[in-house]
Amino acid sequence: MMRAWHLGRLAGIDVRIHWTFLLVPLWVYFSSLAAGSGIASAALSVLFVLTIFACVLCHEYGHALMARYFGIPTRDITLLPIGGVASLQRMPRRPGQELAIALAGPAVNVGIAAVIFAGIVFLNPASGAVALFATQLAIVNVALVVFNMLPAFPMDGGRVLRSLLAMWMPYASATRIAATIGQITAMGFGLLGLITGNWILVLVAGFIFLAARGEAMMASKAAPSHELPFEQDSSSEVKARLMNHRGSYVPPRRSQPIVIMPIRFYNRNRSQHSA
Ligand SMILES: [Zn+2]
Repeated sequence: MMRAWHLGRLAGIDVRIHWTFLLVPLWVYFSSLAAGSGIASAALSVLFVLTIFACVLCHEYGHALMARYFGIPTRDITLLPIGGVASLQRMPRRPGQELAIALAGPAVNVGIAAVIFAGIVFLNPASGAVALFATQLAIVNVALVVFNMLPAFPMDGGRVLRSLLAMWMPYASATRIAATIGQITAMGFGLLGLITGNWILVLVAGFIFLAARGEAMMASKAAPSHELPFEQDSSSEVKARLMNHRGSYVPPRRSQPIVIMPIRFYNRNRSQHSA
């Protein structure tokens, strides 16, 4: 990942931040001010967005630690303005493993939302501002789960779909179908973005569309003679499936990104409440 700064190392994984990420707090701060919020309210919006990115980081660690469980190291996790990417060093070899790794990220957000909701119910915070902040954070975590579970590459839902399909059809066909559904979903996002004038949604749609096309191209480019990936303890069934069809392309490394909801969503939400 170009122009990403090293933030630190946690659980043996380097955490990086792309320079464009700095635009996020600046943009949130100044657009809050422009929307008529005071300095304190704008600063709270920035804190809120940074807290969301902390949740995104936890989401990526969900993928990375589940991958480690299957013996797959993660090179690094990079935070970008549109979300985060965990760069796994290789693809999981079994659909079941890909399924578990893809689900582990959203599962973290489900956990965070559950803990926050439980905290609100049982602790009943006296301060309305704290309760509002926590409630909104929990809602954003739920939104992250819903959005990322849409069946579109490179989002988690796309990988879930591909792994489920790959359980009963060749990997390349599963990828093609999942990638096509991803592109259709991306076009839907793009259209929605154009209609509502939300250019960030259009940008995210373009990103998803290209990523889905990339996955489809990788799947179709794979040569029949492509080397069977290393399989430590492959069941003969999986091995047979990988060898049977032409197109068991396995990319050298795998990105496990999370695409957050367009930031304008939070911003609008925040300014609504701070107004
Ligand atoms: Zn994810």
